[in-house]
Amino acid sequence: MITLKFREEIIKFKDKELIIKERNNRVLMYNTRFKRHIIQSKEVYSYIKKAEEMGLTVEEFVNMFEGSDKEYIKDLMINMGKAGILESSMSEDFYKNMNNRFKAIYLAATHKCNLACRHCCTNCNSTEKDILTTEDVKSIMDFVAELEPYEFIITGGEPMIRSDFEECVHYFKEKDCKTELVLSTNATLIDESNVDFIVNHFNRVEISIDGVDEETCGLVRGRGVFNKIMRSIVLLHTRGFRNIRTSMVVGDKNKHLEEKFYALNERIGTKGMVRCFEPEGRGVENASYFISEETILPFGLTELDKLSFEKDKDNLKSCSCDMYKSKMFIDYDGNMYPCQSLIKPEYSYGSALDKDTRMSVLDFDYDLSDSKLAARLQNIMPYNFEKCKDCDVNVFCFFCPALVDKLLDNEDCPDYEKWCSIMKPQLNRIVWGE
Ligand code: SF4
Ligand code: SF4
Repeated sequence: MITLKFREEIIKFKDKELIIKERNNRVLMYNTRFKRHIIQSKEVYSYIKKAEEMGLTVEEFVNMFEGSDKEYIKDLMINMGKAGILESSMSEDFYKNMNNRFKAIYLAATHKCNLACRHCCTNCNSTEKDILTTEDVKSIMDFVAELEPYEFIITGGEPMIRSDFEECVHYFKEKDCKTELVLSTNATLIDESNVDFIVNHFNRVEISIDGVDEETCGLVRGRGVFNKIMRSIVLLHTRGFRNIRTSMVVGDKNKHLEEKFYALNERIGTKGMVRCFEPEGRGVENASYFISEETILPFGLTELDKLSFEKDKDNLKSCSCDMYKSKMFIDYDGNMYPCQSLIKPEYSYGSALDKDTRMSVLDFDYDLSDSKLAARLQNIMPYNFEKCKDCDVNVFCFFCPALVDKLLDNEDCPDYEKWCSIMKPQLNRIVWGE
């Protein structure tokens, strides 16, 4: 809806925050703070620029058109306001709403795990000792409850391995905040003794299967794991709990299992999600199980073949990284990180056990702050990455800044050229119609 205030506002591009690129009669407008983009024809863009020059209000400009054109321009102005392309009170309200509540906070309650999966990006194993005490976990839960994110995901390692697992989860649940509680587990420890607790305390259970049967799952996660997972899913179903998602990590070597994986999910009544293998943690030494060539980048994500500008221009994903704005990962030592892909000391905001530090994260916006941490995060934004900063598809190419971080850590790696040679032609076709 177009607000009265916005209608009366004078059209003004948010120049300081914008990246504007032009080619083939198209214009790409991307707001680096809002992390939103709009692609328009050069003709329409030039009308809006003219309106800015003339000092027209949004309403005056919209009223210059008639019929369906008028409706189109009106919608466009609203979208440009929301995306932060135009200065407006509406865009700032929209930005605040977008970031006023965390979407997801993750807590790795432990680094310990009863399995030793080949691809484990955090290198968890059964010999690890818990660093966070029960009181530490509860203190972090107090903090999370105060932030009241949409989702609080308890993960690990294997979170159920903690002897105080139920005590801590119950403690959080007692807080009665509107947060949905999610358990991310390998599901091997779910049994008759705890299934009712899980059903009564969690809104969703996420299970990594990484295979489609005993043989393929066993290769990655160990013998007998697949059958245990299936038993746990059946157990949850017998209690009427159906909000179960499963995941499978895929590289070019096991990509052929994707269809079977989705079929399995359909059969067992769960929702499957395929994730691209990334050589991290134990995945580095076991990469050859998943991928045939050594890589540091997730090449499985470069297949944009199915996208087209006409069909997908509104869904085309530009870098919309919301780290510390609406997403945060608290690791097994209590330190806060932007996400699971950037667990490095240089990206840590500090300890969630420190009450002053943890409350100040609420006001932290890496696009507005002049702190060293903000500068480090800015450094991995695709439009600031030296090798790509002049490229006119960079905001689509490195949709996740963690990819840039990997390249910065591996300056001489040939993956950059390979990635570019795959992405550039596809993005030129989709974004610029070439
Ligand atoms: S297409 Fe190539 S130059 Fe452009 S952002 Fe991607 S890797 Fe960089
Ligand atoms: S760095 Fe990537 S994975 Fe992490 S929050 Fe940003 S987009 Fe998501």
